[in-house]
Amino acid sequence: MKIISINAGSSSLKFSLFNMDDESVIASGLFERIGIEGSKYTIKYNGEKISQEIELPTHVDAVNILLDKLTDLNIIESLDEIHGVGHRIVQGKDIFKESVIVTDEVMEKLDTIKGFAPLHNPANMLGIEAFRKVLPNVPMVAVFDTAFHQTMDEVSYLYPVPYSWYKDFGVRKYGAHGTSHRYIANQVKKILGKDEYRLISCHIGNGGSITAIKDGKCVDTSMGFTPLAGIMMGTRSGDIDPSIIPYVMEQDGKNASEVIDDLNKRSGLLGMSEYSSDMRDVLEKCDEQNERAIVARDKYVRRVVDYIAQYYVLLGGADVIVFTAGVGENSVPVRRQICEELACLGVKIDIDANNKRGEFVKLSTDDSKIDVYVIPTDEELMIARDTMDLINR
Ligand code: AMP
Repeated sequence: MKIISINAGSSSLKFSLFNMDDESVIASGLFERIGIEGSKYTIKYNGEKISQEIELPTHVDAVNILLDKLTDLNIIESLDEIHGVGHRIVQGKDIFKESVIVTDEVMEKLDTIKGFAPLHNPANMLGIEAFRKVLPNVPMVAVFDTAFHQTMDEVSYLYPVPYSWYKDFGVRKYGAHGTSHRYIANQVKKILGKDEYRLISCHIGNGGSITAIKDGKCVDTSMGFTPLAGIMMGTRSGDIDPSIIPYVMEQDGKNASEVIDDLNKRSGLLGMSEYSSDMRDVLEKCDEQNERAIVARDKYVRRVVDYIAQYYVLLGGADVIVFTAGVGENSVPVRRQICEELACLGVKIDIDANNKRGEFVKLSTDDSKIDVYVIPTDEELMIARDTMDLINR
């Protein structure tokens, strides 16, 4: 069975084509600058990579070209081989608690909640609409970044604000990266060979979130009403005192959305280092003893450790900590620093094991009180798995 996994942005469309018999990736690629000048696509298959500049006025054009290329390049023999298309949706609110087959009713419901993720959901919907137009008889599945976090209880998901904000305006914690955390939980279950475990999943990349998971279910997560909350990220501040916002508005003559833009795009590693949002660049500056970079790195580590400690207590201890995403999978010094700060919880890692990058590895030593792993995340595969499961039901 072949399934396409799609992540559509407002001007991009990322795809992976899976052979679900062995969960291998047959082809993957990206359509960029859709609707703007200089649009192009890149497709990787069979160890080859092709790239072409081509006019892509709409997402429908991108989907048409993608499907043409899949057959022209003999990646598939005919479109009949595509049994389903899974779509990533950033925000499902408390309406979508799990993945669903896309129907007209689902599209109507999505339309009512798009304002909760105005930069992402309308773009995700464009992807669905384009595929529904081009492949009207192929089932589509929507997979939500927020769905995994729907098992949080009220104590976790409500903010200590007037309850009417929740009742009237839907103000609550929704979380994000749920598909990644769910993938990690599934992998941990396989590694441990049991359903009962306390896991702290650290998805730390340019965006980042930490999730407390008990027996496969989310108990709490660091992102909030929006993905601006929680740990410090590449350009996002994470949690701050909200009173800073009106104060800076007054001082700087900015309006609220301009300050929120600063918190989303000019804070985090970039804001603190005054150099780069990329951890590799920040670490290079740290090696040169650049003070701003050192403080930025140390704050980044501190915020991760803060959340791990918080969730350790919430879960009544932890059996496993997992690092995933760009920094978690690759950044040897950041992982080491985090684990050193967790020594008081009995965390001990093997320095040689920690030198590996971008691959599955157990970092903890046999006498560590908590198992620590690096597990490369695979949201695309999780989307394809959900799509196959729903189609087969
Ligand atoms: P992501 O958003 O998951 O793609 O993660 C991007 C982040 O991962 C950036 O801050 C990168 O600097 C970081 N990253 C990727 N590779 C490395 C590496 N080899 N060492 C340190 N950080 C890395």
